[in-house]
Amino acid sequence: MSFPKNASSRIGTLDKKWDVIIVGGGITGAGIFRDLAGMGYRVLLVEQADFAFGTSSRSSKLVHGGLRYLANAQFNVTYESVREREHLQKQYPNLVKPLEFLIPIYDQYKHGASFFNVGLNLYDIFGSKWKHGSYSLEEMDKRYPLLNKQALRSVLYYYDAEVDDARLVMRVISEGISHGGIALNYCKANTVLRDNTGQVDGIQVVDTLTEEEMELHAAVIVNATGPWTDELRSQVVAGSVIRKLRGSHFLVQRKRLPVEQAFTLFHPRDGRALFIIPWQGMTMVGTTDLDHPASYEREKPEPFMTSKEMDYLLTAVNTMFPTAKISETDIISSFAGLRPIVTMGDMAPSKASRTHRIFADKNLFSIAGGKLTTYQRMAADLIQRILPL
Ligand SMILES: Cc1cc2nc3c(=O)[nH]c(=O)nc-3n(C[C@H](O)[C@H](O)[C@H](O)COP(=O)(O)OP(=O)(O)OC[C@H]3O[C@@H](n4cnc5c(N)ncnc54)[C@H](O)[C@@H]3O)c2cc1C
Repeated sequence: MSFPKNASSRIGTLDKKWDVIIVGGGITGAGIFRDLAGMGYRVLLVEQADFAFGTSSRSSKLVHGGLRYLANAQFNVTYESVREREHLQKQYPNLVKPLEFLIPIYDQYKHGASFFNVGLNLYDIFGSKWKHGSYSLEEMDKRYPLLNKQALRSVLYYYDAEVDDARLVMRVISEGISHGGIALNYCKANTVLRDNTGQVDGIQVVDTLTEEEMELHAAVIVNATGPWTDELRSQVVAGSVIRKLRGSHFLVQRKRLPVEQAFTLFHPRDGRALFIIPWQGMTMVGTTDLDHPASYEREKPEPFMTSKEMDYLLTAVNTMFPTAKISETDIISSFAGLRPIVTMGDMAPSKASRTHRIFADKNLFSIAGGKLTTYQRMAADLIQRILPL
């Protein structure tokens, strides 16, 4: 089944009854859609804008275990993520590609090379391979003349993977379609519908291209709307579960900051881990991790990099590559995304757990948190919760 072509007849031609309707065409919704369609269920996915419009096109593009989760003792997140990284590289070798990371270790860092080596050993044990080590300072000097050598003690390397996040979403959705599912973008779920016992049994959607409205019903409604999770869920139960944490990146021309491997660095102000990543002929720097206030959403509907975040990222880059003298005028583009983190009190953003959670509320199943890397595990957990239909 292909995407319907005639916009004016899109929702009018849809069946009114489904096994499962999934709201949200990011990686979370896409994974659930693909797997349910593959199991033969009649499944519809609706997305309010372009597929991957939300966080799933604004990530750091890494399929990674997340070394920093080890530092926060989130061993389960790292273990699951490393295992998923290995699966995804085999499943989509043209999309998910290995990426070498370098960690230059400076005297002023809180931890030395032996601390990082413990993490890298665990990383490789989780991934069942041995792919880390160190480079000599002489070799680094040859390869990276712009790298800050002052107080540089050693340079470690390890491997993770990279992916074009939006392309991965499109690929997974197209697999769901080839299994018989229907996916519709520019179709927004406005209202959760209930039967006379109060159970959720459908959604009212609007085709945002034609403003046509329609009521659609299903045995189960899945809310995979990421940072928007509370908007649908709060129609069924009071309270919010999502803490929106903004992360921003900027891109500079590769010739201004020529890197062939990715770099992991620690910010001189707060010690947070950041990345400098070679990305599609450019160099990408990110990310930040900040609460995203509602006032920003009123100002601009899409998240954006603030000037404070730009300064923060520039400081990090110029500490590691001081002679490159990267400035605001070098930035050719920036983007920001919102992490849909499940609220766990008011701990520091970088310490907030990245594990996913499922909330079952009167037949509305909301799934949030997690990572791009773990979307298949998230889909499997959600499907286990909703079956049998
Ligand atoms: C800065 C940053 C960097 C990150 N880097 C990485 C990384 O390198 N690796 C990694 O594994 N993870 C990373 N993550 C995490 C990862 O990107 C997210 O966990 C993941 O993309 C969330 O996907 P999602 O589908 O749950 O949400 P989203 O991608 O936001 O999808 C939700 C979708 O729902 C749609 N929607 C909302 N409301 C409605 C409605 N009423 N009707 C219809 N549609 C609706 C939205 O338009 C959106 O497309 C990063 C996150 C951020 C913010």
